[in-house]
Amino acid sequence: MARIPTLEDLGDVAGKRVFVRTDFNVPLDEGKITDDFRIRAALPTIEWLESRGAKVVCASHLGRPKGKPDDKYSMAPVRARLAELAPDVELLENLRFDSGEEANDPAFTARLIEGIDLYVNDAFGASHRAHASIVGPPKMLPSAMGLLLQKEVDVLLGLRNNPKRPFVAVLGGAKISDKLGVVEALLDVVDALVIGGAMCFTFFAAQGKSIGDSLFEPDQVESCARLLSSGRTIHLPDDIVGTDADGAFATFGTWLPDGAKGFDIGPGSAAAFSDVIMDARTVFWNGPMGVFEDERFAAGTRTVAQAMAETKAFTVVGGGDSAAALAQFRLEDDIDHVSTGGGASLELLELGDLPGLAALRAAPNAPAGNEE
Ligand code: ADP
Ligand code: MG
Repeated sequence: MARIPTLEDLGDVAGKRVFVRTDFNVPLDEGKITDDFRIRAALPTIEWLESRGAKVVCASHLGRPKGKPDDKYSMAPVRARLAELAPDVELLENLRFDSGEEANDPAFTARLIEGIDLYVNDAFGASHRAHASIVGPPKMLPSAMGLLLQKEVDVLLGLRNNPKRPFVAVLGGAKISDKLGVVEALLDVVDALVIGGAMCFTFFAAQGKSIGDSLFEPDQVESCARLLSSGRTIHLPDDIVGTDADGAFATFGTWLPDGAKGFDIGPGSAAAFSDVIMDARTVFWNGPMGVFEDERFAAGTRTVAQAMAETKAFTVVGGGDSAAALAQFRLEDDIDHVSTGGGASLELLELGDLPGLAALRAAPNAPAGNEE
């Protein structure tokens, strides 16, 4: 099998026009960029190409504009920020302004690569989608993964294939159904799973516990029961913070009365989860432990984030909200790798491959030989 071509496999880039598929899907608030992390993350690849004489043309999607132009999702704010960071780069308009992007229409790909000599994919966060700008160009042009994509692949496949043990996965967030696939795949490679967030209530329900009015997914109860009986180590919270039937702040054990809602793991659970993180040698974290956007329910996520920052383990965080929580607590610099892709990082961990990576491996310049 061919391996994924790297920037070196593009050959001489001097004087070439290089299309770089970036992930500039930044958070916007009334047209203003609230976090430019994804733009800055693309700079090493842009600089690598420009310093060798290439002309860089970037393109990205932004939001969900439904296949037609929509001012709300114009790339203008991104273009302005990019001009400050990398003034010689061209930036195309939002790729999803054309329905050909998500439909993977070859005619759209052909238009994208008109006048282009080489293709680089540095959009890890979009590489789990078989969209035109991701899988189209590598069929036609010498192609490569950018430095950001390469780092993501190295780190995440490293976790999957060769983690230092004990390897612990900490999972939270809103929905177990989003993550069941990766939870199942991870069960085969991790030494322990730690479960917080709203998804713990579906596990509680599977254990026959009372969860009050907490968020849970009835159609996932059976899957959770199966995971619990798999014989693997699964740490669940043993105290919960939330609101009582009158909506007042309250602390519970693992038996929530009628009308109560759980919004965070309690202090005892947060301390226990921290101990597991401190004793691990590899930790992957995806999904906040509670509704951290509300200060009353941020403590569990903060304690886990602090343990992630302090542990000697190799730490990897995936997921947009988890990364936002780290940024809110100003701990992102103390994590070894914060993935730029939420869905993509989970899918790569689950399946070991992504459509965007497979496309690069099939590119005309892909070198023979085994990966990793
Ligand atoms: P990520 O983006 O890191 O993958 P998710 O999108 O899966 O994370 O989940 C993040 C959301 O989960 C946050 O908005 C948070 O408020 C919510 N959440 C976490 N715990 C709970 C809970 N107990 N009840 C309701 N929502 C929760
Ligand atoms: Mg999210």
